[in-house]
This record gives sequence, C-alpha cells and structure tokens, in this order.
Amino acid sequence: MTDIPQQFASDNYAGICPEAWAATARANAGHAPAYGADSWTQAAADGFRRLFEADCEVFFVFNGTAANALALAALCQSYHSVVCAESAHVETDECGAPEFFSNGSKLLIAPSADGKLTPAAVRAIAEKRTDIHFPKPRAVTVTQATETGRVYTPAELAALSDLCREKGLRLHMDGARFANACASLGATPAEITWKAGVDVLCFGGTKNGMAIGEAVIFFDRALAADFDYRCKQAGQLASKMRYLAAPWVGMLEDGAWLRHARHANASATRLAESVADLPGVTLAAPVEANGVFLNLSEPAQAALRARGWQFYTFIGGAARFMFAWDADPERVDALAHDIRACARV
Ligand SMILES: *Cc1c(COP(=O)(O)O)cnc(C)c1O
Repeated sequence: MTDIPQQFASDNYAGICPEAWAATARANAGHAPAYGADSWTQAAADGFRRLFEADCEVFFVFNGTAANALALAALCQSYHSVVCAESAHVETDECGAPEFFSNGSKLLIAPSADGKLTPAAVRAIAEKRTDIHFPKPRAVTVTQATETGRVYTPAELAALSDLCREKGLRLHMDGARFANACASLGATPAEITWKAGVDVLCFGGTKNGMAIGEAVIFFDRALAADFDYRCKQAGQLASKMRYLAAPWVGMLEDGAWLRHARHANASATRLAESVADLPGVTLAAPVEANGVFLNLSEPAQAALRARGWQFYTFIGGAARFMFAWDADPERVDALAHDIRACARV
C-alpha cells in the first residue's frame, strides 16, 4: 500500500532510512529496561557526546514541538520572554506550545526577511523595554537551518551569542534540520553549537530519516536540572525509550545522519540548478540546505499541481520543495522537467 509516488512537499513525507530501521530491529531483539534505563538510550546519549565532543546532557522526546517548547521552558520563568524571528516554527507552527509549557513566557517577534536573527534585531528588542511591566527577555531562539532553507554561519552564531552574553540571554537552537546545516556548512556539530555559544540544541531526527524523535541536548548541564520531570509531565517520557534511542544509534554510528543530509541538500541544489535559467521562475531564497523556494505564477502553480505535484506555499507564497534522505534523482529531474513545462503556461 504505497500511498503516493515520491513527492517533495515536505521532508517528513519520506519514510525511515535503512540505518534507523536496522537499529530499531536490533533493539527489538529482546527485552530491555524501561523509561531510558536501557543500553540503547545510554549508547545514543554517548554517541551524541562523541559527536559534539562535549559532556552534554541528552534527552529524547517524540517531536520537535515538544523539544523546542520544553527546552525553552527550561530556560525561562513564566515572566520571561524569548526572542525569535517572525517566521520561526516556535511562533508560526507550534500552537502556542512554548508559551504553554513555560507557563506564559512570551515570544517576542523580530522582523526578518530571511528568517535569520541578527544581533541588531535582538538588541533592539532586548533594549526596547526594561521596565517591570514588560516580560523580561531571557532567551533567544534561532532555527538552523531556517524555515526558508537558510543557514547561519559559525561567525553569525558567535556574534549572536556574544550579544546574548552581554544581555544575559540564553541561546537555544531549533535544529529540526540541524544535519542539513552541518552538511551545508561543512562545519562540525560542535562548531555551530557550543563552540559558537549555543546553550541548548533540539536536534531533529524525523526530517533526517527517522520515524519519530528529536534529541534535546544541553551543553550547559546546569540548565538540564529536572528536565526529566519536565518531559514526563508533558507526556514526553517514552516507556519503551529504546525505540526512540536506537534509531539515533543507527544514525550516528556510521555517519548516516550527515550522509543523508548531504544527499538531501544536493537534491535541492540539483533542482535549483536545473530550473535556474527559466524565464519567469526565480528563487525566493538562496538554496543553502535541503529546500528550494520558487516564485511561480499562479497558473504555473496550478499546472504543476495538475501534473500531480504536491507542494506548499504557506511560507511567503513561494512554492516550497523539500528533499529528504531518499530523494530520487529521477523524481527530482521529473519535477524539474514539469516545472520547465509549466513555467510557460
Ligand atoms: C518540522 C519542524 C519542527 C518540528 O515539528 P514537529 O511537527 O513538532 O515535529 C521544528 N522546527 C522546525 C523549523 C521544523 O521545520
């Protein structure tokens, strides 16, 4: 029962990658202690500590909304606030979960053309109000890679974290597509997290090739105090934790996480390059990760849909194509071919 031919509407349309699948099967071989007391959970956390070259605290939750909301809640009291870009997933796609799980910490929205925060934009918000009547800024959240497929360089992150330190703000990273950012930059995970001043990272597994699961990684271990209770209360403590952890072991042990992200990014570049010369079709954002955002006329969009292609336009009106670990070059080329045909209508 295959649902649909391969589509690039979202990177979470893809199935489970072989490495995650095989590790899940290995974890399924017998019994194991529950609630994270098993060897798979230990191995996955140790794998992250090796990957990040740091003695970080690692937690496994079911999805990105929970990861972000609980991580931000760990940084804030209810009277605090969190600076984010206006297009940030925490603001636009989490149904108020960050505010809910923090008992009211307000998101403060910075205007941003490309989805990235700048030190100037954060400073403007952090310094705008310092009186008792306004929620006190306590954290900044960046999305790496951003919702529009842009990537923060290590230098950009370091500049943001310098400002955070100056202002007493904590730095959180929504890394639903963290692997794609690493692949894009050729940087190590450490270089674009704790070495650049990130305090806590939500590392996305789902869009990287797993069925389910995100890792919440605290580089400042003090911030992780009681985080296990937070997870449990939020319904995010898996009793058969080994099934959240084992896929990570499979992803990390031979570098599948990075290999898949490189393939996804290369597929985006492949599409972008094959439509670059088309009159009437422009990129709405430079392609830096695994997404392509195309400005297409309404008739061209309709013609493309009529040919069976699915895509979203909810971010700024451009047609979004996202590529995952399994992107088939023939399907990418077929999409490029159809965009070429439809651009003329
Ligand atoms: C997909 C995504 C998430 C996680 O979303 P869930 O549906 O809650 O797993 C978080 N941040 C960004 C930027 C995303 O694209």
